[in-house]
Amino acid sequence: MSFKKSLKNEKAVIVIDMLEDFVYGALKNVRAKRIIPKIAGLVNHARKKGWIVVYANDAHLPGDPEEKVWGPHAMAGSKGAQVISELKPKKGDFVLGKRTYSGFYETGLDLLLRDNGVSELIITGQHTHICVRHTCADAFARNYKITVPEDGVESFSDSDHKNGLEYLKICYGANIVKTSSLIV
Ligand code: ZN
Repeated sequence: MSFKKSLKNEKAVIVIDMLEDFVYGALKNVRAKRIIPKIAGLVNHARKKGWIVVYANDAHLPGDPEEKVWGPHAMAGSKGAQVISELKPKKGDFVLGKRTYSGFYETGLDLLLRDNGVSELIITGQHTHICVRHTCADAFARNYKITVPEDGVESFSDSDHKNGLEYLKICYGANIVKTSSLIV
C-alpha cells in the first residue's frame, strides 16, 4: 500500500492579489496590465494539464497590520477584494483568503498543496517584492520548488520588480522564466 498521490498535480499555479483594488482600485497599478494576459494563458494551460490553480487573495478585516502601511484595501467581501474579471476563477480552481502578505500564512495553502501532491509552485501576481516575495519565502521554508515567470509578476516600479526578482533568485533559488516557456 502506498500513500503517495498521483503526480498529475505536481505543479500548481498560484495567483496572488490580482484583485480589483490591486489593479483598478485603492492600490491601483497600471503596470499590472501587462501580466493579465500572461497569467490568463498560464492558468488556462494549467487547467488543461491538470495542475491545480490556487488564488491567494487579500481579504482583510478592519485593523489588520497592513492597514497601517497601505491603508484599507481588499476588505473581505468588498468589490475591491474580488479577482479581476479578466482572471475570474473557474470551476475546480481553489480560492483562499489571506490577511497578510504570504499566501501561506494561516490560509491552509500548504495542506491543500500537499493533499494534491504538489512539489513545484509557479508563482504569479502582485507584487514581486512584497506578497510574491513573502509567499516564496514560505514556499522555500517548506521545500517547494519555486518558479516565477518574470512576465507573470509585477510591482509598482521597474526597480522594485527587477530587484524583487533578483532577491527571489538569490535567496530562494527561484527559477525565473518567461510564461511562454511554461506553456508547452
Ligand atoms: Zn493587503
